[in-house]
Amino acid sequence: MAVYLDNAATTRPCEPAVSAVFQNMVEDYGNPSSLHALGLKAEQNLSEARKSIAAALVCDPQCITFTSGATECNNTAVFGTVKNYGKRKKKIVVSAIEHPSVAEPIKYLEEKEGFEVVRIKPSRGGEIAVEDFIDAVDENTCLVSCMLVNNETGSIQPVRKIFSYVKRNFPECVTHCDAVQAFMKLPIKSAELFADIIVVSGHKVHAVKGVGAMYVRKGIRVAPLLMGGGQEKGLRSGTESVPLIAGFGAAVRALMPTMSVAYSNAEEIKAYLLKKLAKLDYITVNSASENSSPYITNFSVKGIRSEIMLHFLESKEIYVSSGSACSKGAHSSVLTAMGIPDKLADSAIRVSIGRTTTKGEIDLLVNAVQEGYQSLAKAK
Ligand code: PMP
Repeated sequence: MAVYLDNAATTRPCEPAVSAVFQNMVEDYGNPSSLHALGLKAEQNLSEARKSIAAALVCDPQCITFTSGATECNNTAVFGTVKNYGKRKKKIVVSAIEHPSVAEPIKYLEEKEGFEVVRIKPSRGGEIAVEDFIDAVDENTCLVSCMLVNNETGSIQPVRKIFSYVKRNFPECVTHCDAVQAFMKLPIKSAELFADIIVVSGHKVHAVKGVGAMYVRKGIRVAPLLMGGGQEKGLRSGTESVPLIAGFGAAVRALMPTMSVAYSNAEEIKAYLLKKLAKLDYITVNSASENSSPYITNFSVKGIRSEIMLHFLESKEIYVSSGSACSKGAHSSVLTAMGIPDKLADSAIRVSIGRTTTKGEIDLLVNAVQEGYQSLAKAK
């Protein structure tokens, strides 16, 4: 049996999600905007999913917009807010460890639209200091963006503290949080986060790829990227993918009741992994020991390039990532921003556990890493 330890890249869709997708493809296949019974049924299924995502974020369902995924949500959040709020205020403050779906739109605004961008670097452990954000944000800032859990290292960012300062002192500045790696893992209450926009993705939470959702606080004006039929209250035109959205809602309902049990299990598995890794002197753990998600562990294997180790593990049917799946082997900007030397960054492995990961699977992983190190280091 394969050992899947790449859950931060994507997760296996759960049975309730797959059934809901199927049901909405073969039975309830109407267009939710149609006025007949089949359309109404699709609209009801859409609305049920919206309520489920809203319940998980503790917000009004009216604040939830469905899109094709977190990449689209993050692009909409960045471009859609500066269109309205960035006319006179031309400064953006963002963490230096954002996912490319946040970092790239902001880089575009910097290079093509003349925005001033301040990127806040993390500590060696990967955490952003609240004070650095406080120092950087001023009355010219239209957008502040900080993710909740980093996808490469699992570091948990002090988003609530940063955003509460921003909203208290600069209420017109929009606060945006990419919560993709935190959603359905850590409890997220939209109001307590002081976020104007929160972004989540379906396929990271046992739903299907190609669906995401964004919470937009009432009163925040986000301009749409897509214009057309005016679906999703005009923020995202295009017929909603009801099957994928219904699957997303079903996955969230299935995971909700056991979130905290799953979190404790993940903590136990991570502690077990770290204890085993600590015995190997050629391993450096890049994830911080505190304020870190139990679901993600990043470590480097001395002298063995990430991809070489990744493929060695793959030959044993153990699946992990080098850095993040999105960087596709390119140098990790996250580890570099943390001040991790290139040699270590080049040998980084990300292990992202899931709800079904067992200690037995961790044993298989660590044994394979040991075997890999011995044979690969010898072969050099
Ligand atoms: N943000 C983060 C933190 C992510 O990990 C990912 C997925 N790698 C995304 C955004 C993009 O999500 P999606 O695949 O739904 O576009």
